[in-house]
Amino acid sequence: MSDLRELYQQVILDHNKNPRNFREMADATRKVEGFNPLCGDHYTIFLKIDGDVIRDISFVGNGCAISKASTSVMSSSVKGKTREEADALFDVFHKLVTGDKGGDVEDELGRFAPFSGVAEFPTRVKCAILAWHTLKSALHEEKESVTTE
Ligand code: ZN
Repeated sequence: MSDLRELYQQVILDHNKNPRNFREMADATRKVEGFNPLCGDHYTIFLKIDGDVIRDISFVGNGCAISKASTSVMSSSVKGKTREEADALFDVFHKLVTGDKGGDVEDELGRFAPFSGVAEFPTRVKCAILAWHTLKSALHEEKESVTTE
């Protein structure tokens, strides 16, 4: 288990160091800010939505390693997906980080697994889920900013 934990930590550190899709998007159709005041995580997510499909997604901002890695993983997971598919991924991720063992939390690529340890640290759950809440708001609401508080 400790080997696995170390691997998970490495995945998070790698995403933190080399976040995927970390750039501004000039022709974004949606741009939403997410803020977690508890930790100071602050990101802006850019989306290019075509009909029902997330054609492109990117983000900029700063925060702790967990929040940045989570935003990076979220962005690569939902690119090319429909709103509905993105919502389903939100649910999978949410269950994983809140330790809900009731549902089936297997994601097809095991991409989210490195965040499973977050469930043990309630204050970190907000860091991990921030990107997903911001995405959800970008997909379903008119708001331009989201806060975890
Ligand atoms: Zn954080």
